[in-house]
Amino acid sequence: MVERRRILYVEDDLPSRMLVSQVLDMAGYEVVEAADGMGGIRLAEELRPDLILMDINMPGLDGYAAATKIKSLPGMTNTPIIAVTANVVEGDRERALTAGCDGYLPKPIDVDALPDQIHEFLGGRRERVDEAEERGYLREYSERLVDSLKEKVEALTRSDQMKSRFISIAAHELRTPVTVIRGYLDILAEPNGPLKEADPSARVMLEGIASGLRRMREIVEDMLDVSRIEAKTLELKVAPVRLAELAEKAIASQRDNAQQRNLTLTREAMDHLPIMWGDGVRIQQMLSHLIGNAIKYTPDGGRITVSGRIMGREARLPGADRPQGGPFIELVVADTGVGIHPEEQERIFEQFYEVRDPRLHSSSKTAFMGGGAGLGLSITRGVAEAHGGWIWVESEGYDPERCPGSRFHVVLPVGKSPKS
Ligand code: ADP
Repeated sequence: MVERRRILYVEDDLPSRMLVSQVLDMAGYEVVEAADGMGGIRLAEELRPDLILMDINMPGLDGYAAATKIKSLPGMTNTPIIAVTANVVEGDRERALTAGCDGYLPKPIDVDALPDQIHEFLGGRRERVDEAEERGYLREYSERLVDSLKEKVEALTRSDQMKSRFISIAAHELRTPVTVIRGYLDILAEPNGPLKEADPSARVMLEGIASGLRRMREIVEDMLDVSRIEAKTLELKVAPVRLAELAEKAIASQRDNAQQRNLTLTREAMDHLPIMWGDGVRIQQMLSHLIGNAIKYTPDGGRITVSGRIMGREARLPGADRPQGGPFIELVVADTGVGIHPEEQERIFEQFYEVRDPRLHSSSKTAFMGGGAGLGLSITRGVAEAHGGWIWVESEGYDPERCPGSRFHVVLPVGKSPKS
């Protein structure tokens, strides 16, 4: 049996897609369909068709852009792409050829002639435009691409602003009812309060409500922190701080969680570190979060170590636009956990970024691989930057079997009194 040649038809209009597919199928071709430009690119990459029929006017990525992209895919440069457009205006053919198409058919497609036309293109027919003319169309094409890029960036900026506003409003609105519930819970929990004579199980339930509420407050606080960091209104209460002390407190706050998971949580000596100027509450929050993450992403029985060292004035931080000229103090939270894929190492510091499938989302604070809201590291970076410092992660990669571990580095300037 002769192998059927494969044609990819990219078209957003369902009736056209069905009609043409049927005609080509009857003419002996194998037809695969994509309903938009992005889908077309994906299928071209995956299925390596022998020819592509490309509708030009599609919402989202149009046929010109899809054709340009497909032509740049390895091994696809010589695959014929035939543009198809309705409402023909002058220059459409030239525009299509300039974008990388090899031929042009006006719509409605003449279904009687189509099989022969396809046959010709498969046999090597190529249409070309005159070079001088092509230059003009290329300029027009680039301008159009820049315009559409600009529109997309503007739309993204708008939706990003709306997201930020939403987080800020939601956090402020949630704060009040959370405080109200907290107040009533405190009254209910008093030994001589309204539950004095109640069944003991009521107290257990009350503890359940209180712990749920604590988690809710933490999330609301995280949302507020994210808003403040974005708006650059995070205020630091700067005072002389001793990092050994802050690290100890951070470790103490996570000790029970580590024990539950049979993890060894230790601190190397830090007493040699100079006193630095910073916001102690925020630095401790940062360390607690890093230790909390290390607990979550390290299998039972693993090790978590917190250490610190002084970096001289010659210190160079990774990245060109990082603050330079120390002295700095570097804190490291290292674990023997699952590690982080190199491609994810920068993205995990973005808001709401979770490496794993969100469908597996769990809000447990300690369970192995139990994710959170994905805000913690973005806040941690915000706090480090507000101090004039930086945070990054080092890891060989993600491997839950071998567990190469991760090392989170926080570098903070020793700083000086804001008054001096
Ligand atoms: P989350 O609330 O989801 O933990 P974070 O901002 O703290 O949010 O972390 C973002 C992502 O970074 C996590 O979902 C996780 O995939 C990854 N991550 C953070 N810390 C570690 C770590 N110590 N080891 C492995 N992966 C980590």
